[in-house]
Amino acid sequence: MSKDYRVLLYYKYQAIEDPDQFAKDHLEFCKSIGLKGRVLVGKEGINGTVSGILAQTEKYKDYVHSLPGFEDLWFKEDEADGYAHRKMFVRPREEIVALNLEEDIDPLQTTGQYLSPKEFHDAILDEDTIVLDTRNDYEYDLGHFKGAIRPDIRNFRELPQWVIDHKEDFMDKRVVVYCTGGIRCEKFSGWMVREGFKDVGQLHGGIDTYGKDPEVQGDLWEGQMYVFDDRISVPINRVNPTVIGKDYYDGTPCERYINCANPECNEQLLASEENEAKYLRGCCAKCRRHPRNRYVAEHQLTTQEWEERLNAIGESLNDSQTA
Ligand SMILES: [Zn+2]
Repeated sequence: MSKDYRVLLYYKYQAIEDPDQFAKDHLEFCKSIGLKGRVLVGKEGINGTVSGILAQTEKYKDYVHSLPGFEDLWFKEDEADGYAHRKMFVRPREEIVALNLEEDIDPLQTTGQYLSPKEFHDAILDEDTIVLDTRNDYEYDLGHFKGAIRPDIRNFRELPQWVIDHKEDFMDKRVVVYCTGGIRCEKFSGWMVREGFKDVGQLHGGIDTYGKDPEVQGDLWEGQMYVFDDRISVPINRVNPTVIGKDYYDGTPCERYINCANPECNEQLLASEENEAKYLRGCCAKCRRHPRNRYVAEHQLTTQEWEERLNAIGESLNDSQTA
């Protein structure tokens, strides 16, 4: 590796007696070495992504591995040009990944079969296997496995209900699931097993591990992988990379994410710089003329300039009829 910085992605389901104290100590240590990132701590374990220069991330790994029960925690590692986070947060949470089930699931007791990157690869090629993406819709839209099903949901928490609604389609088939680093699938595949699905597999180590595997090298992945840090997207496929993201406004290939400029909306959209300017970074007419539109504020557009931009796309500031 040649770059100076590292981004670590990791989790471990492992009982933590006092998450509040654990989080406090953890934050103190991270701050003392200048690490940045976001770590969630719960009674069920730890889930985090942090970044720093190599010396910092190595110190952090040693620290985590020194904690009882976390000696074997698996860090996934990327090199980077700088920090991938702006601040350091460690937060106690009820769940380290929110599935919000009525009856929680302990993946240490019940979970789907772990599949290596090669086994998962072969499962995708098998016509009788259903490949289910367990992530949020905007993650899928930037990149996903070839032929994977995109559940019609906004958020991971809605997935169990979606599966229940489609139960008949999947019940008697082999189902394999995947997510970024593997943590969401630990719980979700466990839930599927508990629901009575016969043959449930999960990509061990997630897409991240699939992309780094020396044998499969990310083949069968289309587009980029969405990540929850300042990088937004990272490449996975090292065999035949493609772009599948589409510009929200004109459908042309695009991998650039922006947030709708209406602070009350914040919808994530893929858009070129050109279209962002043309549409004032708004997802709809209402957001484009919203009084607190962030694009307008950031670019200090006068009311007249704002109106002219809207006119150019057939809209107006006074146009309260357009949705
Ligand atoms: Zn909007």
